[in-house]
Amino acid sequence: MVNDSIIKALKTKSKSLNLSSRKITHLPEVFARLTWIVVLKLNNNSLSSLPSELMCLQKLTELNLGNNALEEIPPVLKHLSCLNKLYLYGNKIIHLPPEVLEGLPNLELLNLNHNRIKVIPAEIKRLCSLKSISVTDNLLQQIPAELGLMKCLTEINFTNNKLTQIPQQLYSLPQLRKLYLARNNLTELPEGALGWKNLKILDVAGNRLSVFPVGFQFLTLEELFFEGNRLVPFTLMESVQEKEVLSLKELSARLILQQSTNELSVVSRALPAYPELQDMLSHWGQCALCSQPFLTTWLECVQFINTRKHMGMKSSQSVPVRVLLCSYDCFNRDDHQYYGLVRL
Ligand SMILES: [Zn+2]
Repeated sequence: MVNDSIIKALKTKSKSLNLSSRKITHLPEVFARLTWIVVLKLNNNSLSSLPSELMCLQKLTELNLGNNALEEIPPVLKHLSCLNKLYLYGNKIIHLPPEVLEGLPNLELLNLNHNRIKVIPAEIKRLCSLKSISVTDNLLQQIPAELGLMKCLTEINFTNNKLTQIPQQLYSLPQLRKLYLARNNLTELPEGALGWKNLKILDVAGNRLSVFPVGFQFLTLEELFFEGNRLVPFTLMESVQEKEVLSLKELSARLILQQSTNELSVVSRALPAYPELQDMLSHWGQCALCSQPFLTTWLECVQFINTRKHMGMKSSQSVPVRVLLCSYDCFNRDDHQYYGLVRL
């Protein structure tokens, strides 16, 4: 039956061949003669490998290998450099071989849902045209920082994995529009959220988040899913302010940071001679009230943001967003609605 379909495709020179759900366990060699094929659907079969002859299909742009029995990404795929869409969902893949990723410079869509992948290698960055990556229902424990180098990415879906954190580099994806991170073990989102200039959909439901990062309310989100987290509730409690004594290191750092904003200052002119110091100072933060800089000591507060009123979303929900203050002097001012955070 499979051979009949291939012979028909050979006769008609059809550019698309659909062999899904045919109980195929291996591909016959005659496949190599389908050199003009552009779309090949082999999903819902029992393939555990692909023959090297497949490399003859140099015009192939879309390949669906979903719901088969592959335990690895077939090495022959690295020769299919025209591939634009690759579906490998529902297999038994554990490992992503870096050499295959390096051979797919035109890939725009990669679907690896429902596999057993624990690690995405740093070589993922070789997929320089990738717009959409989906690795739902796998065993991912971390995301490589290199993902932040893939500037074409518009959609990332890592729903239902074992992620405990995401790299800050994910904020350097200005084109990113949809990010799905539901049902992982995230305890926080790193600071720097303002990098998501075009993010429209964020799904972080079913994690362990307590607050959203600084500046989160300035994102232009259209949809936000966050149910099933451990967000800080709005419960007022009495607390005692401890006497605040800043370390000499912190005091010096604040002074240097203040001085460094003045281009004419001695500090500003001297800093380039001390790259290590510059690196250390680059992790500074800014007080939400007085705008003064701080380096290692701050007061963590929250403000409760209404998603409709403050973010322009259709749904009206209250979310806690982190706010950092430089001191109790600022905290004790009466011109703000920031609340000290009590971790019980
Ligand atoms: Zn302040």
